[in-house]
Amino acid sequence: MKTFALAGNPNSGKTTLFNALTGSTAHVGNWPGVTVDRREGVYKKGSEKINIVDLPGIYSLSPYTPEEIVSRDFILDGRPDGIINIVDATNLERNLYLTTQLMETDVPLIVALNMMDEVEKAGDKIDVKALERALGVPVVKISALKETGIRELMEIAAALPDSRKGVSVLEDTMREKIRALKEFYDGEGLSSPLFRAVKLLENDEAESKRKGAKELLEKVANGCDTEAVVADGRYQYISEHFSQAKIKAAKEQFNKSDKIDRVLTHRVWALPIFAVILFAIFHVTFAEDFLYIGAWASLGKGLPALDDLGLSDGMAKFVGIFYDGAVFSPGVILFNVFDTVFGIIAEAAGGA
Ligand code: GDP
Ligand code: MG
Repeated sequence: MKTFALAGNPNSGKTTLFNALTGSTAHVGNWPGVTVDRREGVYKKGSEKINIVDLPGIYSLSPYTPEEIVSRDFILDGRPDGIINIVDATNLERNLYLTTQLMETDVPLIVALNMMDEVEKAGDKIDVKALERALGVPVVKISALKETGIRELMEIAAALPDSRKGVSVLEDTMREKIRALKEFYDGEGLSSPLFRAVKLLENDEAESKRKGAKELLEKVANGCDTEAVVADGRYQYISEHFSQAKIKAAKEQFNKSDKIDRVLTHRVWALPIFAVILFAIFHVTFAEDFLYIGAWASLGKGLPALDDLGLSDGMAKFVGIFYDGAVFSPGVILFNVFDTVFGIIAEAAGGA
């Protein structure tokens, strides 16, 4: 039976997803030596069964809190077949900090983008394809609470290849240093050598304690504060690649108004367009045939003139304000209203 670990920040919805996946099969125990809950259960995918382990909530794979140690040990040495990294999509950047570390392990990885119901309720969008490109692993939108997307998540998880080669978002900025340290770990024959190499650059306690590691780090770092550079590099990569995926909806709108702007301020077309718009405004305001039922007219029937309507005098006066063979524009109607009103007043005054 395959075993998948659920890893994610506290409150990202791990337990909710775990319960949705395992239902009544779950049982709770303790991790050896610590008082951290160990929940385990079985997900049934048709006839296939997948073992699910709910890891404690963590922000980082450092070896400092009991939760971090338990999660890290299980991921590196517990031989899970894969990690389901549950990410709170309403808090994407902060949650992805852990994802950039999980990426560095050699364990197969899938990202479950949780709380999508909240994201959609807020009218936000997330470009899953852009996220997948930036992370290099499958990303599936889910709502653990509403139990949507879960079947698709498990389909893709079950079909993940048996092994993966870790990748780091820091490979561009620290390529040489990472390579030198990874060579060391390759020689030691340890699991996830890339992950350990980057951890050593982060002055990670567990990795620094390894024989020869500290001396090697000093040599490779050559006075550079690699811990700060790594933290910075993660945040920078996240804001460069992942914020983009999130604000896509807003950006599209901006692009649309941007395009309109570019046409309206064009070097050659700006003036002709301006003239046409001005004409349209004048036409709408002052034309005597602002609304002319063209289709009717083209049948050769034309629209009847006011005199041909056979209206009483009073009615003709009133309708004449708005219509004579075509509907007048607002400007003409306004003029006619004043004209008629003052006509009536003048008539009354003359009579008196
Ligand atoms: P854990 O700390 O990672 O185990 O997170 P929990 O499973 O305890 O969930 C934390 C909170 O988020 C709870 O109040 C859940 O009801 C809520 N939650 C979990 N998943 C979802 C989801 O998909 N949508 C929404 N709206 N809330 C969720
Ligand atoms: Mg929990």
